[in-house]
Amino acid sequence: MAARKTERLTPSDRALLVAARAAREHAHAPWSQFKVGAAALFGDTIVPGCNVEFDVYGLTNCAERTAVFAAFAHGVATQPLTAMAVIADTPEPASPCGACRQVMFECGGPELRVILTNTRGDVRITRMRNLLPDGFRLEKKAARRRKA
Ligand SMILES: [Zn+2]
Repeated sequence: MAARKTERLTPSDRALLVAARAAREHAHAPWSQFKVGAAALFGDTIVPGCNVEFDVYGLTNCAERTAVFAAFAHGVATQPLTAMAVIADTPEPASPCGACRQVMFECGGPELRVILTNTRGDVRITRMRNLLPDGFRLEKKAARRRKA
């Protein structure tokens, strides 16, 4: 498992945690009752996300991807994704699912700062490279990002 809390919370991290906690209140989880909040930092813009469930489970979207998709919808995904915070009511700090890890990796790269927490306030700070080693990226996409 990746190292725990190897870095300290920055003021930016704290702002993300506040936004993620607030976003969690908007979670739509009528079936699982498992509410998740996220906050993504694109440039200097914080974009919140929450999980959204539907009667057809396959249509459910996680908080982390909701935040990233909202960033595209709001036109702020042109800025680099540098940090993501995630919160849920879990015994250990919440951890993104595989699909979210891929999306986060593609937008933020291996150095993306990830702040994981739970409603009790336990915090784990890590980097994307620890959550998704050797993540998939199309070379063309990577080249486009390097130009930007
Ligand atoms: Zn997910």
